[in-house]
Amino acid sequence: MLEPVCQADVDVVIVGAGAAGLAAAQHLTRAGLTTVVLEAAPTVGGRMATEKVDGFRLDRIGRLLSTSYPELRRTPGLDGLTLRPFSPGVLLHSDGRHHRAGALTPRSARGALTAARALASAPRLPRTTARSAYRPHRGQSGVPRPGPLGGPLDQTRLTAALARLAATPPERLLTRPEHPAAGSQAARGLPPRTVDGFLRPLLSALLCDPELTTSSRAADLALHSFASGRLCLPEGGADTLPELLAASLPPGTVRTGVHVTAVSTTTVTTRDHGRLTCRAILLATGARDAARLLPGLRVPAFHPVTVLHHTTDEPPLAEPALLLDADRGGPVAHTAVVSQVDPSRAPAGRALISSTVLGVPPSAAPLDAAVRAQLARLYGTPTSRWELLAVHHTADAVPAMPPPHDLRRPVRLLAGLYVCGDHRDTGTLQGALHSARRAAKALLADLGVQPVTAEEPLEAAA
Ligand SMILES: Cc1cc2nc3c(=O)[nH]c(=O)nc-3n(C[C@H](O)[C@H](O)[C@H](O)COP(=O)(O)OP(=O)(O)OC[C@H]3O[C@@H](n4cnc5c(N)ncnc54)[C@H](O)[C@@H]3O)c2cc1C
Repeated sequence: MLEPVCQADVDVVIVGAGAAGLAAAQHLTRAGLTTVVLEAAPTVGGRMATEKVDGFRLDRIGRLLSTSYPELRRTPGLDGLTLRPFSPGVLLHSDGRHHRAGALTPRSARGALTAARALASAPRLPRTTARSAYRPHRGQSGVPRPGPLGGPLDQTRLTAALARLAATPPERLLTRPEHPAAGSQAARGLPPRTVDGFLRPLLSALLCDPELTTSSRAADLALHSFASGRLCLPEGGADTLPELLAASLPPGTVRTGVHVTAVSTTTVTTRDHGRLTCRAILLATGARDAARLLPGLRVPAFHPVTVLHHTTDEPPLAEPALLLDADRGGPVAHTAVVSQVDPSRAPAGRALISSTVLGVPPSAAPLDAAVRAQLARLYGTPTSRWELLAVHHTADAVPAMPPPHDLRRPVRLLAGLYVCGDHRDTGTLQGALHSARRAAKALLADLGVQPVTAEEPLEAAA
């Protein structure tokens, strides 16, 4: 049985101590409600778990957060969160070389916008003249091979397109026509090689969606976040974030090892800890568990994700960069020397390389062989002696967001029964935290309680 404090006089029971459930608990306790969070697993964090192995901190997820996620700033309890940024933009690997892409500084963005305006109003140059300005990389055969970003003109167009996206308010992006992201990239006015060599691999990595079946609006939001911030990792591992949220809740709020088997508007039944009564219930499990507890709730398709962690003595890349394979020459979508981004994730003298494979992978042994072969090419160094630390596969990693995607799925099911999590918003941490804010707001309104934080617009991002 749960201790008596949980059985009487609890205003709200939250089921699930992932990022969404814990963020909702922050909003509700700060508004003065007594809250208990029940978590089936022995630890908090849900999908934001970090495995500790021999001094390494290995995330289950190949987490790509953006410093521009509004909810990282606005969610109470996250003041102590340190974000370790990747170097600006990304490194694209193509034809044996690294190319920096998508790094926007205020000056480069302003310059690109001015140049783009000039380009738009200038008379079109004859093709021969335009091409002569660009001397592409030549392959061994002497045949010119344009890099994934094309020439300076193409790069200016790309910078201008990203600067425009960064400057467009999310609510405006959400009014644009909606299609699958794969088909809508050409409409950005960028050359096909920029779309194929940069936008597609970048969006696949940001959305965990190799086929880009995601709604173009969600893709625009992801690019908006990318262009207006820096990709980053939580210092110490993904689990730092839920642990911070849990640590600043009143003692006894979070109960781990408690599996909920049934819910109604005022009662929660657990497998081994009896029943709890309360004024309201908030389901903050993933989509599949939510539908088990409330049959009829929609279960989206999911993008599976596999993360492989390797270690070696020397970092194969000194820069804390996110490395994408523009040539798509293997299963890895993106990789990074994570210990260069966040040194706390590896013991002294060891480098930690984390690589993300999207989609359904082959079994572990052939996957590791294919990944090593690709990493040898991407980092330009032999990988056969690297040690494999862990392979983490999550089948239900990221809820799919095909068009039409409702970025504001209802969080209030009935007065007294609410639901939140990344499946109600965008399939990202930002979406999970944002859905928690919306659910807490609806719940407080039903109970006639004023939110403690000032009313703020519900900003969108992905
Ligand atoms: C491999 C991978 C890669 C990802 N990459 C990114 C990325 O690059 N960028 C990004 O922003 N996001 C990414 N995400 C998504 C992000 O991690 C999630 O959106 C976020 O963690 C979801 O939080 P949540 O609280 O909604 O759900 P969860 O973290 O799933 O939490 C739900 C909790 O409910 C608990 N629970 C379930 N059933 C019960 C029950 N019956 N009783 C009690 N407790 C229960 C679970 O144990 C779990 O702790 C990725 C996720 C994965 C797995």
